[in-house]
Amino acid sequence: MRILVANDDGIGAPGIKALATALARENEVYVVAPDRERSAMGHALTLHRPLAAEPYALDPSLAGAWSTTGTPSDCVKLAVGAILPHPPDLIVSGINRGPNLGADVLYSGTVSASLEGVINGFPAVAFSLAAFTDRGYAQAAEFALSLVRQLQTRTLPPKFLLNVNIPALEGEPYAGVRVTKLGVRRYQDVFEQRTDPRGRTFYWLAGEAIEAGEDADSDVVAVRSNYVSITPIQYDMTHYPMLEPIKGWNLQLEAPVQA
Ligand code: MN
Repeated sequence: MRILVANDDGIGAPGIKALATALARENEVYVVAPDRERSAMGHALTLHRPLAAEPYALDPSLAGAWSTTGTPSDCVKLAVGAILPHPPDLIVSGINRGPNLGADVLYSGTVSASLEGVINGFPAVAFSLAAFTDRGYAQAAEFALSLVRQLQTRTLPPKFLLNVNIPALEGEPYAGVRVTKLGVRRYQDVFEQRTDPRGRTFYWLAGEAIEAGEDADSDVVAVRSNYVSITPIQYDMTHYPMLEPIKGWNLQLEAPVQA
């Protein structure tokens, strides 16, 4: 299979090298990734300045690798629109440093890179390591390779991606694999308020995820119990149950529109 690999931690991050080189043992793998850390950028696109893309010596087993000045979504758009010699069969992103569970998927550059693939008509998978650690990428990459093998034998529907979170284990088996729904994963947002050397107040977002009150079949609970979590997700955010009730609201314009 021809696979495009992107990420949001930057092309120098350990997760993308582990993922790309594991997949390259059995596939034709291209990497197009940001030249620096671009986490929590969501689906940002660069419209008002040009993007640079330069070949990058990531690993000799790869069919090609480029680092770009763009966001994760830019990388995927650029790869399929301009850089790759042929369209990929699959787009994957990661392996992200840290989990992308519940509402994290809305902020995540890792998930957005995969979603960009889906928007462009490609099947896609986002891989995240469920801890902020340097351990566990090699084992997670082996799981990714086994999942990609499995995908080759399946017909996937359009507009669909897999969000995969993998426990950070090394030399120790995962508890298993669970197909999950997105949890809630709210954050207790804390803004540290400080004063800069010129006397101006500034704020720095900190805070911890609240992992209480999650459903047993959620991604959050699976990963907490050392299961690999696989959540099928889509980008249609339409709230279908409210379509009909809102049509019943009194939505006429107050005054006739002047011709
Ligand atoms: Mn990241």
